[in-house]
Amino acid sequence: MQAVTIHEHGGRDKLVFETVADPDVGPGEIRLRVRACALNHLDIWVRKGLPHLRLSYPHILGSDIAGEVESVGPGVKGVEVGQRALLSPGVSCGTCRECLAGRDNLCRSYGILGETRVGGYAELITVPAANLLPYPDTLDFPQAAAIPLTFQTAWQMLVDKARVGPTDTVLVLAAGSGVGSAAVQIARLFGATVIATASSAAKLARAGELGAQHLVNHAERSEDWVARVREITGGRGVDVVFEHVGAATWDKSIKLCARGGRIVTCGATTGWDARTDLRHVFFRQLTILGSTMGSKSVLFDVIQQVQKGRLRPVVDRVLPLSDAAEAHRVLEEREAFGKVVLVV
Ligand code: ZN
Repeated sequence: MQAVTIHEHGGRDKLVFETVADPDVGPGEIRLRVRACALNHLDIWVRKGLPHLRLSYPHILGSDIAGEVESVGPGVKGVEVGQRALLSPGVSCGTCRECLAGRDNLCRSYGILGETRVGGYAELITVPAANLLPYPDTLDFPQAAAIPLTFQTAWQMLVDKARVGPTDTVLVLAAGSGVGSAAVQIARLFGATVIATASSAAKLARAGELGAQHLVNHAERSEDWVARVREITGGRGVDVVFEHVGAATWDKSIKLCARGGRIVTCGATTGWDARTDLRHVFFRQLTILGSTMGSKSVLFDVIQQVQKGRLRPVVDRVLPLSDAAEAHRVLEEREAFGKVVLVV
């Protein structure tokens, strides 16, 4: 099969379009003909290298995968060759205490397609049959692929961790990102008031289309965005900060929290060495919530809401698999609003 692989960590020039062996399909597994694979910032981190990550090469990136079932391994029931399929990006043991409690993303052996095992920048991928999700039949392959990782992540952050509700004001940082555009919609779904930040007027307009009621430009030499958020909240601050930016915004996120507010973070695209002034945390009784991915069960709720038209994937652009390096550039230079998707 053809695939985009990496043989070592590094820049975009390490992405190689080549022919590799087809993956085998074993008991309990299905092999999928990949039709679309959406990018995440995780792809960039894995390409560049992460301290805990030991890859076997050639490695294949890509966590958000939609396609058709190409073959079915022994022991798999209820799956037909040719059916459309959307994959849950998380892989876990399925038998431990955490898995059985529905907290599969706390499983000791939890891994992610494209990170701890090969992913979807390829014509074929083999996964456990348990990773199949109900296919959202109103969507084409690129739209479907744009859903799992970001919506699962944003849902766990806002619904399961921050327990967002109609009395909350939620500050969504970098609303033009994949996870940000999901967060705006989920916060609105639960009735919250949303203040969205982005780096351009065009991105802010799109955040407004997704339901954000207040739009703040955080680009340098633009308005003082921290003062603007304060002004919008009448000086009170926000109930929830949706953080994934990291070092560049963390101290401001803490200061922008109202008394008793919560900050929920899933990432640090600008760096993880952020400063926390503990006086703000204890005197104003803030809650800092860490979050990564979400349980697979979350995606059943997300897909149900997508089918009802209450949540929608946001696809910025679709590129052929052979343009993976260009797709990485778009993500790294923050050109996109929403997801960049490769089609195979
Ligand atoms: Zn487990």
